Amino acid sequence: MTILLSTLNARYTHASLGLRYLLANMGDLQPATRLMEFVIGAKPADLAERLLAHEPRIIGFGVYIWNVEETTRLVALLKRVAPEVVIVLGGPEVSHETGEQDITRLADYVVTGWGDVTFPALCRQILHGPKPLMKVHAGVQPPLQDIVLPYHLYDDDDIAHRTLYVEASRGCPFKCEFCLSALDKTAWPFDLDAFLGALESLHARGARLFKFVDRTFNLNVKASLRIMQFFLDKLEAHPDDPVHAHFEVVPDHLPEALKAAIMRFPQGTLQFEIGIQSFNPEVQAMVSRRQDNEKAADNIRWLHQHSRAHLHVDLIAGLPGEDLDSFARGFDKLVGLGPHEIQFGILKRLRGTPIIRHTEACGMVFDPAPPYAILATDRIDFGTMQRLVRFARYWDLVANSGRFANTLPLILGDAPFANFMALSDWLYRRTDATHRIALDKLAALVGEWLRQTHDEEAVNAALDGDYATQAPRLHVRQKASDGAIRRQAQHGRR
Ligand code: SF4
Repeated sequence: MTILLSTLNARYTHASLGLRYLLANMGDLQPATRLMEFVIGAKPADLAERLLAHEPRIIGFGVYIWNVEETTRLVALLKRVAPEVVIVLGGPEVSHETGEQDITRLADYVVTGWGDVTFPALCRQILHGPKPLMKVHAGVQPPLQDIVLPYHLYDDDDIAHRTLYVEASRGCPFKCEFCLSALDKTAWPFDLDAFLGALESLHARGARLFKFVDRTFNLNVKASLRIMQFFLDKLEAHPDDPVHAHFEVVPDHLPEALKAAIMRFPQGTLQFEIGIQSFNPEVQAMVSRRQDNEKAADNIRWLHQHSRAHLHVDLIAGLPGEDLDSFARGFDKLVGLGPHEIQFGILKRLRGTPIIRHTEACGMVFDPAPPYAILATDRIDFGTMQRLVRFARYWDLVANSGRFANTLPLILGDAPFANFMALSDWLYRRTDATHRIALDKLAALVGEWLRQTHDEEAVNAALDGDYATQAPRLHVRQKASDGAIRRQAQHGRR
């Protein structure tokens, strides 16, 4: 095989859309090109052995924030054992600050930005000459209709076992400074008929889970409605074999026509990822995020009350200008709107994002290692940021997991942030850990903490309610006398 396209995905279920785009657009080189996807956590030597078994002339790696450290080790090893193999890098992690990274020093070539056209052109030059003069090649951004859609490259195994990522548009017109899409300045739509044709083929081949990577799905309502109608038609024609769609939406733009379509989706078939990030207008202004907070809140409330969509809402801690109190107020406001999950993220300094302009003025200190998380700001010191990091982890385990649905209202009371922070601090003191806490142990600890301030019967009833809905995975009731666990439960993620 002449050319390998490779990446280390965060999970097996994440099929790489980027690599499939490259393969689809290789033109005459496509028969000599092959995809080789791996999952992070494997030994670099094993991966190198598997790649080299195909005797490649060129290996192209997709480099992302979650795999840059392991890919760097892999590239270093490949350059030792097979220096003749040409290494080409691409992906968001190497598209900015390109000259400052170990991995780009090790590689032969780097394609920044879009690779659909530039990567195959570079391969042709490497294989047939003349030798490319430059190491770093800025990716050419062709009109989207010139890009070959990649969806036929999802194989039967992908369709059966992996999330299928699709995109009806690229880019984002907004300019939130913490986000790489801020650099796009606009959004470009793919030809909708061709895109829906590709979805039709995937559906006919058995695909039932579609995750849209469009940054703002509800930007162009006409297009959104046609895409939603595609899914509604499938749901009507195959009610016993439903299709599931996942969209990222901006929260303050939900016209009536879109609401009417959303209301028609049955339970369990529609998921929205909604970015709020911060409810603080001063913070929003500092990071150039345009958001009508009241409209956003109304829309989330409406979705919660009138649709059956699963709502996953994002907040970011550590933004410039945000202190603990203002973050807490935003968190409490969001809890009150009733989303099913709150994704509590810690700010990351993604390479290339303009957020860096606040570094000095706001005392922003970032971890120099990926994923470059914020460690402190002038408003939130390192110790407090650590508490927020643990809060986020325990929030995932207790709230987002859905395993404590009956118990969570007792935990949160009328001051969700303050109460959950108290639980989080207590859990950490008791366990000295945020990972590898068995579910039965966590349930026992939550019960013990609640019994300090709540009626024991109410606590037991809530925990038993959670147990009843999840048996046999969760045993949650604890004998108050000796703290013994009444029944063992399996530990695993939903
Ligand atoms: S956070 Fe969302 S709305 Fe803001 S630039 Fe990024 S993708 Fe666009």
